Amino acid sequence: MTGSPPRFSTPLHVGRPNIGDRSKFLDRLGGALDRHWLANNGPLVREFEARVAALAGTRHCVPVGNATVGIQIAAKAAGIAPGDEVVVPSFTSPATAHALHWIGATPVFCDVDGTANADPGHVARLIGPRTRAIVGVHVFGRPCEIDRLAALAERHGLPLILDAAQAVGCTYRGRPIGGFGVAEVFSFHATKYLNSFEGGAIVTDDDELAERARAMRNLGMNDERDQVVCGINGRMTEASAAMGLTSLDAMETIISANRRNHRLYRSGLAGLDGVRLHEPAPGERANHQYIVIEVDGAVAGADRDTVLGALARHNVLARRYFHPGCHQIPPYRDHPALHTPLPLPRTEALCDRVLSLPTGTAVGPAEIAGICGIIREACTGGQVRAA
Ligand SMILES: *Cc1c(COP(=O)(O)O)cnc(C)c1O
Repeated sequence: MTGSPPRFSTPLHVGRPNIGDRSKFLDRLGGALDRHWLANNGPLVREFEARVAALAGTRHCVPVGNATVGIQIAAKAAGIAPGDEVVVPSFTSPATAHALHWIGATPVFCDVDGTANADPGHVARLIGPRTRAIVGVHVFGRPCEIDRLAALAERHGLPLILDAAQAVGCTYRGRPIGGFGVAEVFSFHATKYLNSFEGGAIVTDDDELAERARAMRNLGMNDERDQVVCGINGRMTEASAAMGLTSLDAMETIISANRRNHRLYRSGLAGLDGVRLHEPAPGERANHQYIVIEVDGAVAGADRDTVLGALARHNVLARRYFHPGCHQIPPYRDHPALHTPLPLPRTEALCDRVLSLPTGTAVGPAEIAGICGIIREACTGGQVRAA
């Protein structure tokens, strides 16, 4: 088997960028060059801002250079200061934890529930005298338990900030993601379902938080060019906004390709014991940005890394999102006094099982049939050997 040629001659990637209408993008970029207006809240950034606010159903949108700086700014604008503890799931991008650590806060990691999101019961147990905020993450675009986290936050007088990097275009209880907590942060990184090369946005209904975030993004300067706060350069460029707008134009096309792909993976993997495909929240709109499976090695006949290796031999570059959990990466795992890393059994089990598979507009029925075939062979091969 190892001698057979790979099923795919060119690699299939997770997070291959969705490009959208190239000529529309180039027209927009040409406009920015004609105007000689490339940065500093230009017309494309403002158009992008209005469209993202409409998508999120929020009064404010503050476009930023990326979601990592967006989380830093949102957290600072919400009053988080050095030394504050923030309860946050470990099962997320390192970006979430690093953004908080970089502004001097201490992430206190909670475990996951059955949907790979923060377990509100565990969050409640982690809230202590130094806790100053809760950060929830909509992992793989599936909304976390916002109502229960918001109730906890309210009971303890804490802001709830939501890392919505993966949940652009999704809903929670029928309302668009973006309008929950004190602020939510989107990512428009190239690998996300909508992209602006690099980019992000803070969305909120809080007028004062939005005003602080706007100034913080712009080196502390308000719209009147007065210095009002300590800031950073978190600005989005016109080139990024040109791509972001083009991506927004293509949103429905991308979502329907993703939705079709999810359906195809579901039927392609049906009946394969020990391999579970993550499903979106029932009744909600999802962007299906990630195809995530959990491989239970004890049942499937092959463990996750064996499946990963089998896919790689056929040029399918699946990814272990997220692996390891944030509590097991530096600096958090090395600083028990500062970061109090607790054993998080469900997170650790999940990190050993998850695999993200290629989707998006670059992947279609033939690719998915091939990928599901490789996974099946890896599992049944293992079952036969075990028997
Ligand atoms: C991608 C991602 C980020 C970081 O976004 P950038 O725009 O790359 O900074 C943060 N959190 C989560 C959950 C992500 O998936």
